[in-house]
Amino acid sequence: MRYLSDYHIHSTYSFDGKQTIEEIIIKAISMKLNEICLTEHISFNREDNIYNSFDFKDYENEIQILSKRYSGQINIKQGIEIGEYHLYKNDFDKYFKEHNLDFIIGSIHNLNGKGLRKNIAENGITYTYETYFKEILYFVQMGDFDILGHLDIVQRYAFKTGGVYNFEDYKDYIYDILKIIISRGKGIEVNTSGLSNNLLFPKLEILHMYKDLNGEILTVGSDAHTTNRVGEKVNYVYDILKDIGFKHIFTYNNRKIQEHSL
Ligand SMILES: [Zn+2]
Ligand SMILES: [Zn+2]
Repeated sequence: MRYLSDYHIHSTYSFDGKQTIEEIIIKAISMKLNEICLTEHISFNREDNIYNSFDFKDYENEIQILSKRYSGQINIKQGIEIGEYHLYKNDFDKYFKEHNLDFIIGSIHNLNGKGLRKNIAENGITYTYETYFKEILYFVQMGDFDILGHLDIVQRYAFKTGGVYNFEDYKDYIYDILKIIISRGKGIEVNTSGLSNNLLFPKLEILHMYKDLNGEILTVGSDAHTTNRVGEKVNYVYDILKDIGFKHIFTYNNRKIQEHSL
């Protein structure tokens, strides 16, 4: 039996989450998931509406209560999704020391202090892709995180204007990004939130390259902000990963990695 896990979910503890933790759990159990990890947004950008947005003690307490209530039915982990670690290193390092975290997704949501959508509108698609991959390359060299979130998420905002990039155009950046991730013992996320538009974050070419470079560490996440998307396409993505040749999917406990056969 596969160990199904959704490792990217936002509850109402995130400024943009529209579902309570208990609603997520009930849906996840109905989807036959074995484990979920909540990954609430944390940002230290004062301009960002995510900034300092929730009380971690409340979050932790609620997870503890619900873990007991649903014990034996599902495992629940407490994680966060951070943005732009490289700009707020000291704040994040302090935060990681002071809080009990099972798992950290490291993401880039902003360039030049502005969202990706805004960057595309103001600076164009090519500039946004190029700057985004450069920023990721810098972040993965020095960042503290477990998994790189939704690599190539620019597609989410660019595809409507025909801006789905060619892998070949950014292959050199992507190669360097993956090499560093592997050498640092970190991993990448496969994010299913674009599949309704036929987009996988990251693209299949990236997953093949990761495999060819002997990358192994992977999580799958729905990035659900609403209950209907919890666990969406997780099993389907496991099939894709297995077809590419990956052997395992990974979960985390207190930031320690555990592997499960695909
Ligand atoms: Zn994100
Ligand atoms: Zn997210």
